[in-house]
This record gives sequence, C-alpha cells and structure tokens, in this order.
Amino acid sequence: MPRMPLGVMLSVRDDFAARLARIKDAGFTTMQLSTPPREYTVDPKLGELRSLIARSGVNVTSVAAVYEGESYADIAAVRNTVGLLPRATRAARIEDTKRCADFAHTVGAVNVSSHIGYIPEDKSHPDYGGLVSALQEICDYIRRNGQSFNLETGQETAELLREFIDDVSRENLGVNFDPANMIMYGTGDPIEALTVLALWVRGVHCKDGEWPEAPGTLGEERPLGQGQVGMERFLAKLKGIGYVGPLTIEREVPGEQQMEDLLSGKKLLDAIRAKLGI
Ligand code: MG
Repeated sequence: MPRMPLGVMLSVRDDFAARLARIKDAGFTTMQLSTPPREYTVDPKLGELRSLIARSGVNVTSVAAVYEGESYADIAAVRNTVGLLPRATRAARIEDTKRCADFAHTVGAVNVSSHIGYIPEDKSHPDYGGLVSALQEICDYIRRNGQSFNLETGQETAELLREFIDDVSRENLGVNFDPANMIMYGTGDPIEALTVLALWVRGVHCKDGEWPEAPGTLGEERPLGQGQVGMERFLAKLKGIGYVGPLTIEREVPGEQQMEDLLSGKKLLDAIRAKLGI
C-alpha cells in the first residue's frame, strides 16, 4: 500500500454500490465501514457485498463497531449509552464486537474499532477494571483473525488513553485517532495528543469540528477545513510521527451532503499533501 492512502468512512446500506462507485471514481483507494445491518452479515447479501468490494479494488482497512441504543446527543447521553461502558449491555456488546470483527475478517479488514465509552479516570472504579477485562477478551478473540482493535479517540485525554492501553496489555490494541473528536469533546489539543499516542496510532479519521460552547455539550462537527483542527498542522504532525497508514475522511451527515463533503475534503487533503510533500 502507498504511504497514507486516502479513504472514506462509509456505512453499508442499500445505496452502498452507488456510493462505492463514486468514491472509487474520485480516486479513493481505501475505506472504513461501520457495523452493517445484520442482513449484510449473512448470505446472500454478505456474498454480494464481498464480491462488490473485491471488484472495486477499494480496500477495507477497518470496521467500526456501533451498538444499538447509542446516543451522541450530549455528554450525559454519551456517558450513559455509548460503547462498552454501560454495564447492562456490556456483555452483549462484547459479543456484538466479536461478530463485527468476524464480519470485518470476511471483507479483508485487519482492524476493528469503536468508541468504548468514557474510561473512568479513577482506576479503582469497577468500570475501569471492567473495560480492561472487556478489551482483553476482545483483543484475544480477534487475534485469531489476525486483527487489531483500535480505540477511537475523543472521550478521554491522551494520557488516560495511553495508561489504559498499558493496563490492557495486549499487542493488538491501538488507536484510531480522530482529531475532531478531541476538540468536540473538549478533551485536549489533538496535535499534542498525537505526541502522546504516536506509538499506537494505527488509523486516523480526517474530520473537523469546533470546541463545545458550554459545559455538558458537544462541539459541532464541520466539513474538513472549516473547523478548528487545522488540517495542515494535523497532516504535518502525522508525517512527523512517521505515520504511513490510511487517511480516512469521516463526515457524519446524511445523504448527498456527506458525499459532497467527502469529495471536497479530498481536494483539501490533496492540496495539503502536495504542499507538504507527503
Ligand atoms: Mg471518528
């Protein structure tokens, strides 16, 4: 694979073939998917999806596990519903993650990722140990597929994430670094965070966003180049830490707007890369 190949984050749904054709035509060579609806994880739709992806030549680099019942409305909703943190759904979502990894394996992806939820700052909190155990179970399972699990950044500081990775103590645990999330959640400057997490970054989302306006709220996601990440300094920093993996543009808006923003995001990244020589 060339250094820093360009990719997009795509969801699998009925118009997937048409959107895949457009991103291929635009010159993207990689993509990350999110957990597809269940009918796409079994034949006949799974077989159709696999041959569609194989024919496209666009590599699936990761699949993001998303779970039923999650809400990103505000900080409290995220704390109560997202990832592996809520105890009532933890065991079931660990199994969902394993199924997601097995799906990812069938489409050739060597990485699985998710937001696991807020990691408690207090290591003696039972949920801290619960998350460590959950990640150990998932990492041990997906190793059989030759896969790594990447923690999506945003809900905690880089320092806490690094300590958590140390405590899980599995070689196939890394980071999918999303600079916009760190800003939108107000958890720290993403460029400084990259210094802390450099050794574990196995994927990145090129996404933009704004700092939150009030405590308890989340900042707004913006099209690439229109938020406060600073894409040029982000890419320069990735070059500086020796990152060579995919640059996956993520835009979390529905419909045609998403495709338009992905394509204009690519133009911005192409221009920055030409300027930086990467
Ligand atoms: Mg992301």
